[in-house]
Parts: sequence; C-alpha cells; structure tokens
Amino acid sequence: MSVGGAEAGSAAETGGAAETGGAAETGGAAVAGGGIESVEEFRLRARGWLRENMPRSAPGATGRLVVRPDEEELAEVAQDRRLQRLLFDAGFAGLCFPKEYGGQGLTREHAEAFNEELAGYRYPSRLQVPTMTPCAAVILEFGTHEQKAAHLPAILRGEELWMQFLSEPGSGSDVAGAKTSAVREGDEWVLNGSKIWTTGAWWSDWGLCLARTNWDVPKHRGLTVFMLPIHQPGIEVSRIEMLDGNKEFCQEFLTDVRVPDSARIGEVDDGWTVATRWLFHERSFSSSPFALRPAGDVETYGDPGGGLLQLAERAGRLADPSARELVGEAHLLRTAMHALDQRLHAVISEGKATEQLAAVGRLMHGVTMGRLATIGFELAGPAAVAAEEGEDSLGGLGTSYLLRQIASIGGGTTEVARNVISERVLGMPREQALDRNVPYRQVRTGPSSGGAANARS
Ligand SMILES: Cc1cc2nc3c(=O)[nH]c(=O)nc-3n(C[C@H](O)[C@H](O)[C@H](O)COP(=O)(O)OP(=O)(O)OC[C@H]3O[C@@H](n4cnc5c(N)ncnc54)[C@H](O)[C@@H]3O)c2cc1C
Repeated sequence: MSVGGAEAGSAAETGGAAETGGAAETGGAAVAGGGIESVEEFRLRARGWLRENMPRSAPGATGRLVVRPDEEELAEVAQDRRLQRLLFDAGFAGLCFPKEYGGQGLTREHAEAFNEELAGYRYPSRLQVPTMTPCAAVILEFGTHEQKAAHLPAILRGEELWMQFLSEPGSGSDVAGAKTSAVREGDEWVLNGSKIWTTGAWWSDWGLCLARTNWDVPKHRGLTVFMLPIHQPGIEVSRIEMLDGNKEFCQEFLTDVRVPDSARIGEVDDGWTVATRWLFHERSFSSSPFALRPAGDVETYGDPGGGLLQLAERAGRLADPSARELVGEAHLLRTAMHALDQRLHAVISEGKATEQLAAVGRLMHGVTMGRLATIGFELAGPAAVAAEEGEDSLGGLGTSYLLRQIASIGGGTTEVARNVISERVLGMPREQALDRNVPYRQVRTGPSSGGAANARS
C-alpha cells in the first residue's frame, strides 16, 4: 500500500531550494574521526541544513489522494525526486541504510531526531512509502549484493520510485492466495496475471511483485518475489477512477512479462519468508527507521492547521462542552498512538516480542486515523463540506472524512490485523481454512478471483 503522508507546497515554491545545497555543505561534517556522529550533533547539523535548504510545508496540506490534473501530479512527483536528490547530495538520505549502498549508516535515534527536525518542512513523501519501506527495506534484507548495489543508491538518489505488486483482484487480505504466475524458461521467468490497487503505479518505475511459482504445494509454499520495471512491453497499467474523480489507483495486467532470474528476491518457492518480512515492514511503516516521517505528521491528521482548538474557535464552538470533549479525545488518541508506536518498536527491535506484534500498531493507526478525521469533521461542522467559491473550506476536512476508511484498508485491513493479533500474538485458535495443507492447484475459488486456483499452470 501507499498511504500518502501530508505533503504541501508547489514546484514553484520549492524549485529554488532544490537547486541549492549539496554534499560539500554538510557531508564533510557528517562523521568526525570515522565514528558515528552523536545524535545531538547530528540534530543541530540537520536543523541548520533544513533551515537553509528545505522548503516549508503549507499549513493544512491535504493527503496524497486528492484530485488534481495529471500534469500537476507529475510535477509534484518530479519535485519529490528533486527533494530526495537534495537530501542525498547533502548526506541526509537513507539515514539507516548502510553506507555501502548509499545510505548514512546511522541509528534509529538519528532517524527520529531528523524526523523531529523535519516537522514543518516539505519532504519527498512519494519516495517514502512504499519505496523506502517496505520495498527498499525488503531489498536490503533479502537482496543479493548486486541487487542492493543496483537499486538502493538509485532509490536514495530519487531515481527509482517503487510500488508494491501484492494485491490481486481475488486476493487482497489473503496475500498468499496470489494467482499471478511465474514460469521458468531458462534464465528467465515469464509472468502472467493481474495486480490491483497499486497507488501511483502510472508515475512509478519499479514493482516488487509476489508471484506463484509452484501450484503443487500448499499456497504459502509456492510463492516467489521478483523485481520488475513497471513500464515495459507486457505490462498494461490501467488507472481506476474513484467516485471523486481521483485516478491514483491502478490495476496492472501482466502478459508474458519476461524477468531475468537475477531479478528474483529470495529463494524460489520461498517467497512467503520474504513476504512475511515485507508485511512486517508494511504494518510498521509509521515508525520505520527507513522512511522519513516528519514528527507531528500523524498528530496533525484531521487538523486543518493551527490546532483543533483553533478550529473549534473558527467554528464558534470554543465554549461548547461537546466540542471541548472532541478536542480532548483527539489529544488522548494521538498521545496513546505515539506512545504505543514507541513501545512496540522498542520491544520488537530488542527481540522481546514477535514481529507479529506490529499488527497492534497497525490496528491502532487504522482505528485512530479514522476517528481523528471524524473529529476534525465534527468540529468544523457545515464549513467542512460547503464553501462558496474563494471561501475557506477548512483545508479539505470534508475530503479527509470521506477518505477516512483508507486508514483501515490500505496496508492490510484492521479486520485482518485483529486476526493476526488474536491468532499470532494472543495464541487463540486459528481461523478455519479450507486451503491449508492442500496443493494450491486443488483449492477451489470463486469466479471473481479468477476461477479455480488450478486454472493456471
Ligand atoms: C489507500 C490504499 C492503498 C493501497 N495500495 C496498495 C498497493 O500499493 N499495492 C497493493 O498491492 N495493494 C494496495 N492496496 C490494497 C490493500 O492492500 C487491500 O485493499 C487490502 O489488503 C484489502 O484487500 P481487498 O481490497 O482485496 O479486500 P478483501 O480481502 O476482499 O476483503 C474484503 C473485506 O473482508 C474482510 N476480510 C477478508 N478476509 C478476512 C478474514 N480472514 N477475517 C476477517 N475479515 C476478513 C476485510 O477486512 C475487508 O473488510 C491499497 C489499498 C488502499 C485503500
């Protein structure tokens, strides 16, 4: 999935800054005496560099899924690439990626400090999720040296935008039920099938693709992961228009797409091992050390800028007890979500808990983001949905409200997160599954998912 973080500003606003700065200004000071710079030194250096070089974000910026003309969207993508390059040249890209692959080899604490300093600035949001995480994180974990050397520096320079080719028309929640097939022919694989709900595939470069390579084993055991350029003969990218006119979601049709074996990530038929970590990185994207996320990004969700109290004031509801309750509830939710994220990451990274615990954070985010959007909408009242031309419509709060379910679907649904928590964290009985321990070829599926699982060989 690719749920956009806040983004703001226009190419015109930021173009000047993108041309300035560079490694010479900052890179030399990055590491003194070959050791790792202290977090506080790094923070000060980052603060100064950001102030000099990065454009400020506009208050009340809306999320990625907004309707805008294609040319504007492409200009924003190009601007994100330039900002990523700017970070790279200054030695601030890929803070937790190894130096060998173009990163900075720093710690999670450095990344957190940078995110804190990044608050209020525009940043290359399209390069973060799913490019940095989960895609680049998966390549780092499972790729060969050649694969990492070929792609990670290019990603960190903003030259490669990646998308996840996971969901299919018949398997979204049931990721392991993928029916896109990959058949080996010498040193190549031939892929056929369809992927769907790929946000922004039309302006992206590469896809990380889960495909079925063995139909004679149970579904989790016959999968393999491949990297493929999105724009190539055999891949038709079809844009899906949503009710509001947005066309960011895409469906891809793969017909005899040839992929060299050197583009395979992980072992043949062992794609589920890769996918398990892939899903972990996806579920924990909000606190990943691999992606930038300005501090306060989540905290201001459902907030048109200036804080919810100011919103209540603008709506003439400052003295209204129910409005004050809503502001309090939002504050409580944000505080709890932030604290939970920190705690989960600490216990998972210290090896004290299974990575399936990331589903708790994913559930909390899904529920909380929807509620925050609702609170912003309730506080704003009619002004969130109706405005005369030229009048302030309160920063798209009405749109955020309509799109609030994104948070509980993208990146895996909250229902599935609940299943993972009950079965894999709390140890409750497994859900009944008719396809467990059965060769996938023999599993019967409905026509909407492409017919019987054995329809492809
Ligand atoms: C903003 C956004 C961005 C996305 N980006 C991407 C992307 O870049 N790449 C990509 O591959 N996919 C992407 N997706 C797709 C997303 O991962 C799927 O929509 C999601 O996993 C659900 O799959 P589905 O839509 O097929 O629903 P289904 O799996 O058909 O589920 C339908 C409903 O049934 C429920 N359900 C299903 N199985 C169970 C179960 N076992 N127990 C209880 N309830 C169940 C689900 O929770 C859901 O409510 C994106 C989705 C969104 C909203």
